[in-house]
Amino acid sequence: MKKLIPAVLLLALVLTSCSSLRAEKTADFFAMDTYMSVKYYGGPDGESEKLETAAAELEKKLSVTKEDSEIARLNRDGRAKLSGETEKLLTGALDLCRETEGALDVTVYPAVRAWGFTTGEHRVPDKDEIDGIVGKIGYGNVTVGGGEAALPDGYMVDLGAVAKGYLGDKLAEILKEDGVTSALLDLGGNIRAVGEKPDGSPWRIAVRDPAGDGVIGTLPLRDETAATSGGYERYFVDEDGEIRWHIIDPATGYPAKAGLISVTVIGKDGLRCDGLSTALFVMGREKSVSFWRERRDFEMILVTDDGKILISPGLSGMFEPEKGSSYSVEVIGND
Ligand code: ADP
Ligand code: MG
Repeated sequence: MKKLIPAVLLLALVLTSCSSLRAEKTADFFAMDTYMSVKYYGGPDGESEKLETAAAELEKKLSVTKEDSEIARLNRDGRAKLSGETEKLLTGALDLCRETEGALDVTVYPAVRAWGFTTGEHRVPDKDEIDGIVGKIGYGNVTVGGGEAALPDGYMVDLGAVAKGYLGDKLAEILKEDGVTSALLDLGGNIRAVGEKPDGSPWRIAVRDPAGDGVIGTLPLRDETAATSGGYERYFVDEDGEIRWHIIDPATGYPAKAGLISVTVIGKDGLRCDGLSTALFVMGREKSVSFWRERRDFEMILVTDDGKILISPGLSGMFEPEKGSSYSVEVIGND
């Protein structure tokens, strides 16, 4: 009988540790204008507050609308001291601006603002106004280094196109430090997986149909980010019935219309995935395909405005199109 007690205790211990690993925990919060939702296994019970605080701290540094953020001060004064984190983010984003030859441009903000996407008071700026604004767009004029940044008169920076991708990696690190080995973070258009599901299968995520309420398909995700940029996320219909969305072509100052209605980029680096999803949306189908061919270090799903889904070859057999969907799926060839 004496020997039995420790055995029972041991069994109970094994059972509770298994069940705590198997029990799904959730953390939901609102930050960066986005409802964020996390499910995870293992680690402590209540991670909501910690994750929310980390997201709010980043927002406090980067927000273009919070007056005392580092970026808002840079935009107001034309120069500002930057924390190490903001400097790193701005530098990383500028690298992507160069790599995408300005399809991503962190100085596009005056245009985003003129179209009313910052306040929700949407409007169509006239041609003269747009011309004036385009003259104040150009990431090459941003100087950053030594803990500060500077901008020419009238220039403004916005890291909105990469912030959530970066945040996904940051929150994933926090969870991992706390012993979480399995998690799925949904940061509104940016999904970050930590590990795989507790049963050893990959997380499966759905990609929204940019032209409807449903989904276009699902794909597996392990320790990676899937970032989606879509015209459907924030848009308005102008007086002429034209849809105007929040992704702007920095070359014209107008909402980007290059034949794509949604772009998903899958890869290891959250900031890069997020930035690329915006950039490829601006580039359009042909340029995106050549951009991918020159690199092949990420996977992508392009949804065209004529009903096609183009996937990179690495997603072939992985991406499962929605049954009965009217989209036709094509795999990008090697040349
Ligand atoms: P979301 O943030 O809505 O998930 P994106 O990651 O595509 O979507 O980022 C879009 C945001 O980035 C816009 O709201 C705007 O602030 C900014 N933006 C729009 N066009 C560009 C661009 N060409 N380059 C850089 N930033 C952009
Ligand atoms: Mg983006």
